[in-house]
Amino acid sequence: MVTRFWISQVRKAAFSHTLKLSSDFYSQKDLPEIIRIIHTADSLSGVLDLSLLEFLPTLARLAAASFAIYVKFGAFIFCLAISGSIVYLWLDNHAFHNNLKKTEPERRCTDLELSRATNQALEKHIIVELFNTITYHIGIYEHALDAHLETESRWSQVAIYRSISLQRLQRGLFFAISMILTHRGTSAEDIIFLTLYWPTIAGHLSRLPSQYTRLHLKFTDLKCLLAHLDIKPTIKDGENACDIGPINGRITFSDVSFRYLGQKKETLKNVCISIRPRTTVALVGRSGSGKSTLLELLLRRYDVNSGSIKIDSQDIRELTLDSLRKSIAFVPSKSQIFHNWSIWQNLTYGSFDVHFEAITEVCCAVGIHDKISSSSKQYESIVGRDLNFSDGEMQLLEIARALIRKARILVLDEPTSSLDADTEAMIFEMLGKLNITIFMSANRLSSLKRVDEIIVLEQGVIKERGNHNELMETHGGVYQRLYSQWSE
Ligand code: ADP
Repeated sequence: MVTRFWISQVRKAAFSHTLKLSSDFYSQKDLPEIIRIIHTADSLSGVLDLSLLEFLPTLARLAAASFAIYVKFGAFIFCLAISGSIVYLWLDNHAFHNNLKKTEPERRCTDLELSRATNQALEKHIIVELFNTITYHIGIYEHALDAHLETESRWSQVAIYRSISLQRLQRGLFFAISMILTHRGTSAEDIIFLTLYWPTIAGHLSRLPSQYTRLHLKFTDLKCLLAHLDIKPTIKDGENACDIGPINGRITFSDVSFRYLGQKKETLKNVCISIRPRTTVALVGRSGSGKSTLLELLLRRYDVNSGSIKIDSQDIRELTLDSLRKSIAFVPSKSQIFHNWSIWQNLTYGSFDVHFEAITEVCCAVGIHDKISSSSKQYESIVGRDLNFSDGEMQLLEIARALIRKARILVLDEPTSSLDADTEAMIFEMLGKLNITIFMSANRLSSLKRVDEIIVLEQGVIKERGNHNELMETHGGVYQRLYSQWSE
């Protein structure tokens, strides 16, 4: 009961701590590795169970058995049995325990590789199927499984060899003690006592090393977990952080430079942008030019290396993360709709107190209401089970979910990449009527004629800015080239 309580507390702490970590942690680790870290919380139960219910009781029984030997045969035989046991444990430590300890990292590593091989193939099943790489992934899986089973089997072999060798050592110890007792003329009755009592001592002695090894491994897991719990989020509220309060929606990037952790090159260099309230600004540029990074900096998924980002006149680093993210609605470039959740749950995600009418109104505006109504369960339909959505429809759901938040600022990362031209035009028209600040990245240039300002990024540097007509008049300009390539 106590153990269950502690496991649940540690697991909850590990999970909530992991969720609170910043983007840099998530970009350095993959899902199987993160899940494995959370599950190491179970080691705590192992440590408690093993030490309280196995290791310490075995030690106590061994002490009691040694005391019985002392009472029955005196100090000499007691010392002999104790020194024999110490030699026995010392030999075990050097020959087997250290060996198992060395094998353990390899065992963990092959286990993680096996989880990766399983996850990758299942997660990317569509690619696996359509690229005819099923056999290839089976090969990767089999290779990972063989490597894992091989380390497991090496581990078991050492464990079996350990058990056999220890039994031999115990017999040797028993034989030595019996010979000494016989030589000293001990009575037959006492020799029989020792013969009957020895298996009890031997049992405790043989259990002790394997319990010690298991305990050691559990402690190693626990150390990993503690190291994980020690990782601090890099993006957090400053000491004097305050809530953002009511805002007009002006956004100012002043001389912003940014480099991802571990990268030599700066992703953004001296970027200056001023977005007036209730206007729409779009970022365009080649893939990798830094558009998404700029949006993520505004959302404070990362902090700028130099310069500042302000909303109205407030530096976003001086605001509480909670209030900052409440004031910005976000539409990601890849669908983040939860499968096996109802449409209602997905749409009210993050804004739980919205009325049904407000939701249907937004869904009608983005053109997804008819699709939702086509299912008998309507907004209660489970995504992926009752109702399936195309990539474009998923984008419409994403846009609806963001609009339901009713934030003063809307950030969209390539929001219409999967939509047809008509729906895209309708979405842009609808966004234009919203009277909020919109900051977006776009790879499709078709609807940018309507936006107030277009900013052209090239390798993290602003190359051009202006509205569509102004940029089209810049002969030899990047936007003009991108637009003519796009419209061909
Ligand atoms: P865009 O949105 O214009 O396609 P991004 O802002 O996504 O470009 O990426 C700009 C550059 O930053 C790319 O070269 C990419 O390799 C790098 N980058 C993006 N995300 C990360 C990350 N999490 N860690 C390291 N580098 C990154």
